[in-house]
Amino acid sequence: MEKKTTVTIIGAGFAGLAAAALLAKDGCDVTVIEKNEMAGGRARSWQKDCFLFDMGPSWYWMPDVFENYYNLFGKTTSDFYTLKRLNPSYRIYFGKKDTIDVPATLDDLYDLFEKLEPGSSKNLKHFLEQAKYKYEVGMNEYVFKPSHSVMEYFDPRLAISGIKLQLLGNMRQHVHQLFKNERLRKLLEFPVLFLGATPQHTPALYSLMNYADLVLGTWYPMGGMHKIVAAMQHLAESEGVKFIFDTEVTKIEVKNNLAEYVITKNGNFKSDFVVGNADYHYIDQHLFDKPYRNYNEKYWEKRTMAPSCLLFYVGLNKKLNNLLHHNLFFDEDFDQHAKEIYTHPQWPSKPLFYVCCPSITDKSVAPEGCENLFFLIPVAPDLPDNESKREEYFNLLLKRFKDLTGNDIGDHILFKRSYAMNDFVTDYHAFKGNAYGLANTLKQTAFLKPKMKSKVTNFLYTGQLTVPGPGVPPAIISGQVVAKEIKKKLKKA
Ligand SMILES: Cc1cc2nc3c(=O)[nH]c(=O)nc-3n(C[C@H](O)[C@H](O)[C@H](O)COP(=O)(O)OP(=O)(O)OC[C@H]3O[C@@H](n4cnc5c(N)ncnc54)[C@H](O)[C@@H]3O)c2cc1C
Repeated sequence: MEKKTTVTIIGAGFAGLAAAALLAKDGCDVTVIEKNEMAGGRARSWQKDCFLFDMGPSWYWMPDVFENYYNLFGKTTSDFYTLKRLNPSYRIYFGKKDTIDVPATLDDLYDLFEKLEPGSSKNLKHFLEQAKYKYEVGMNEYVFKPSHSVMEYFDPRLAISGIKLQLLGNMRQHVHQLFKNERLRKLLEFPVLFLGATPQHTPALYSLMNYADLVLGTWYPMGGMHKIVAAMQHLAESEGVKFIFDTEVTKIEVKNNLAEYVITKNGNFKSDFVVGNADYHYIDQHLFDKPYRNYNEKYWEKRTMAPSCLLFYVGLNKKLNNLLHHNLFFDEDFDQHAKEIYTHPQWPSKPLFYVCCPSITDKSVAPEGCENLFFLIPVAPDLPDNESKREEYFNLLLKRFKDLTGNDIGDHILFKRSYAMNDFVTDYHAFKGNAYGLANTLKQTAFLKPKMKSKVTNFLYTGQLTVPGPGVPPAIISGQVVAKEIKKKLKKA
């Protein structure tokens, strides 16, 4: 019998899971080694009493990416979970009793724009047509490229589309040229928060995220975001992937330019290929010896990291008013907060924040009469992080939350758990405690991102620090791309 190609994958985040199942489906013998006790990486879940928290992602955008992935296995999303489109998609608080609910239908959205800025629905149509073009070209022509070299982008068709993709303009100019109303501008600039850079430093290309937001919609997998993790783990196991949890990789030993052993306290693993889904910087700088590193510390120090975050998971013994599933609190100055993340990194003086309340949509995540709350403040990575700082911000959140929504929750908290930079480092070896990897600035896009390819011939990187970038859908795509690269190598061999 022909010997199967063996693959070891370091890390069971979305990228690792996506690659694992595809490689196993193609006949490889795949083992995933994961440091933590469960799969999902930044999207792990946390159960406390009868509350179930998603620890990371809460926005299910780009449902086409998930559906396409499941289709590769002859499955569809509804085989794994019920997907519900949220309507309204989310609420933005600009002040007390000053809110916008972003509707899920385009007609309602045009009405909202007209109400806030007469005549602006025409501009919105134009803006969304451009965004659709960018999304479609991006998804069909760009994101699945391994981006080993700039040469992959030397194609006359791509050069023409490159102009229409507005790679050189930035999001701030693009939005401000078309819209005058401050609220509408904030609404359209918000998705770049996901990409972890200021609108001034994010290429206008990324208005494709507005298409994802306003046209493709905000969805929720009933049961929670970890249902996606469970689906992907199930697919991988069905294809024969073996998972080893609670096992940290401490070194990758290289011989003859090949990753020979993946070292863990539970033994050493030898395989034909190794895929690194753990944080790129950690593998590059800590698991490989110096000659096999793609970059040096100076390179990493110069990267613009996406923000980290200060998070609170809160179990509440009462139901709340004036809240939707997703709530953005934009009552303070975004530019000031952005400066305190990127230009002069420091704890923010007047932070914007986000509150997710999934128990509004899903009874299964909190006991009857209770609410499951997730607070998020984006902060600069690498800030000094300690309990008293976290507590200071929790008190600030409680006050602002009460002033803006009228919900006084101080006496109704059954428990709370905080999570920030130190936890990202301890749990995921996150460089500077980052939450979302690298910021998507022009200089860190496509072939300018840390490379998938390694100096070590049988090793490839995947995940949010390499192509195509941060976010759950890109991480899944990254896993797909790396699986394809291994298949290509096998064909050549
Ligand atoms: C708070 C938060 C909110 C977010 N919100 C959203 C959202 O709403 N929507 C969205 O699309 N995206 C969101 N994101 C981003 C998204 O979660 C990530 O981009 C994505 O999950 C990254 O997946 P990954 O596979 O690249 O990496 P990871 O999830 O980090 O997986 C890497 C895995 O490697 C493991 N590992 C690390 N070191 C080792 C080692 N030495 N040995 C073995 N294993 C190791 C880690 O434990 C981890 O499981 C959010 C992220 C955070 C943190």
